[in-house]
Amino acid sequence: MAIFKRPALKESRKKREMPQGLWQKCPGCSEVVHEIELAGNQRVCPHCDHHFSQSAKDRIEHLLDPDTFVERDANLRSEDTLQFQGVATYKDRLKKYQDATGLTDAVLSGYGMIEGYRVAIAVMDFSFLAATMGSVVANASRARSSTARPIVARSSSSPPPEVRACMKECSA
Ligand SMILES: [Zn+2]
Repeated sequence: MAIFKRPALKESRKKREMPQGLWQKCPGCSEVVHEIELAGNQRVCPHCDHHFSQSAKDRIEHLLDPDTFVERDANLRSEDTLQFQGVATYKDRLKKYQDATGLTDAVLSGYGMIEGYRVAIAVMDFSFLAATMGSVVANASRARSSTARPIVARSSSSPPPEVRACMKECSA
């Protein structure tokens, strides 16, 4: 006969609610890092230097001198020339990602200054359809490359032939 009785487990143990998006578990070292700390460290883990994904807007903010970015081609929209039909149409996919990211396409481009020098800039955003390169990306990249300013291009995926051609023209 037992002297002590094991207490019955209460089922009313509430799961702790943690606000979404405040903490990130680092895929490099498994440490939990606060968003504020990541934002202050250009989205690099302070424990292991793992680089978290970064939005095009954040990347531009980190690259350019403060308040110098002027967006161009924000009115460009991708064409559905292939009339793609899948689980969702291309137009539906674009709309879904536009609503989710606040971007009109996978690239954010325009002009700004770095250390006081005027530059053209085009930055891809992976969160928009995995930085799929449609006609907007090609047109924005081509438009930026036709200026006399140095170009800063930040890709999040492999550049399509049109962009590679622009890069070749510009480096020649
Ligand atoms: Zn880490």
